[in-house]
Amino acid sequence: MTTLVMKFGGTSVGSAARIKEVAHIVESRQGAKRVVVVSAMAGVTNSLFEMAEAARGHNLDKALQFLSRIEQTHLEASRSLEVATPDLIGQIKEIVENLQRRIHGIDLLGELSLRTMDEIASAGERLSSILVAGFMGCPLLDARHVIRTDSHFGGAHPKLAAIKKFTALHLAPLLESYDVIVTQGYIGSDDANDTTTLGRGGSDYSAGLLGAAIQASEIEIWTDVEGILTADPRVVSAARTVEILSYDEAAELASYGAKVLHPATVRPALDAGVPVTIRSTFKPNGMFSTISPGESSGRPCVAIAMRRNVVILSVTQESMTDQAGFLAKLFDIFGRRGISVDLVSTSEISVSVSLDRNAPLEALTQELEKLGKVSIASDRAVIAVVGDLLRKTPEVLHTTFVAIDGIPVDLISMGANAINLSFIVQEQDAERVMRSLHTAFFEGGTQ
Ligand code: ADP
Ligand code: ASP
Ligand code: MG
Repeated sequence: MTTLVMKFGGTSVGSAARIKEVAHIVESRQGAKRVVVVSAMAGVTNSLFEMAEAARGHNLDKALQFLSRIEQTHLEASRSLEVATPDLIGQIKEIVENLQRRIHGIDLLGELSLRTMDEIASAGERLSSILVAGFMGCPLLDARHVIRTDSHFGGAHPKLAAIKKFTALHLAPLLESYDVIVTQGYIGSDDANDTTTLGRGGSDYSAGLLGAAIQASEIEIWTDVEGILTADPRVVSAARTVEILSYDEAAELASYGAKVLHPATVRPALDAGVPVTIRSTFKPNGMFSTISPGESSGRPCVAIAMRRNVVILSVTQESMTDQAGFLAKLFDIFGRRGISVDLVSTSEISVSVSLDRNAPLEALTQELEKLGKVSIASDRAVIAVVGDLLRKTPEVLHTTFVAIDGIPVDLISMGANAINLSFIVQEQDAERVMRSLHTAFFEGGTQ
């Protein structure tokens, strides 16, 4: 019998009506064993973060308001779904009461550790999964029993061998007895059994990990758009579905801001040779994207992605005579702080790197000033043109440069993997650039 991993994102489980639709879709896959991976209901993870922040800022009333709204959302959904049994209500209340105790603790100390934040953030998926499993009448597996990670709270790294072991131990036997099992995305646990999370948007990654561990026949990512589109539809209304992509293309788009997929999702799927499809719960029979072994879009530009909140940090040293030593020292500073650098450009006397706006810029600047004069340009966005045949098609450069003519560009990089041309512009220009690139590549422009 085939086994599917079906992951449903926040909007897809965002209300009782949406959860009913999820049940329909799962039902439509009769004949396959199904592992249903769910995200928190839309907006709940954000509320949990805001709630915890409010408690840290000693704004107890505000924190409790957030909690009460979260509780009401789930209780109302349970009533609409007609699953509000004392047992199910009890499960919701238990999570809510635990959150309440934690809020009081945070308020008292004015401290919020990453470990505590993960425990709190995990409540979103724990709550939504109770509703989904309750409505579908199938067993609920606590993902923390299978998704073993390191203790890097807030963005933990999965331990693949352990996940395989625990999947065989806890998930496989359940699948023997039941056709459908529900579990949570995003959450896991470390060796000390503390709750961890895989980072924001991490439910996709959970689906990738589980699909690889059980050697599923397919990982279906169900979301609110018809697959991976040629650009973010919120920015480019003419964006359309990309039907076939390679794992590399999907990973590259995701890491350059295509939020539809968590960047790490495809790696485990690729390693296990499991195809991934991305589909819309609003149009279950509509268009979708397929990423599968040996496939490629076969295009110079398959899609364009954009990531905001980028800064460019430049270090200038007039007498950069020992260039090799200089770069080693520079990257050592980033490396020791665990800061990942995106794009890099070097000139005779300066090095510029792009970083996330939330990097510890002040501390970095202090340290880097030992090497040279540091300057930071903020409010930037990185834009990436991605396609398997990009490097083999010189016209892509021409099309790109014509489309961005007149827009100030800070930094350009052609990825070493040869499928990505990325550059940085001011954030205020980014949407305009996206639209003109999209017109050039996908709306009758030359390619
Ligand atoms: P989910 O909650 O289902 O995980 P997300 O909000 O994380 O959904 O991701 C889906 C969203 O990703 C879409 O609604 C869309 O706005 C955004 N997005 C950004 N870039 C793309 C793209 N290239 N293709 C499709 N969606 C994209
Ligand atoms: N609920 C988590 C988030 O909002 C994980 C996910 O939705 O993928 O980040
Ligand atoms: Mg997502």
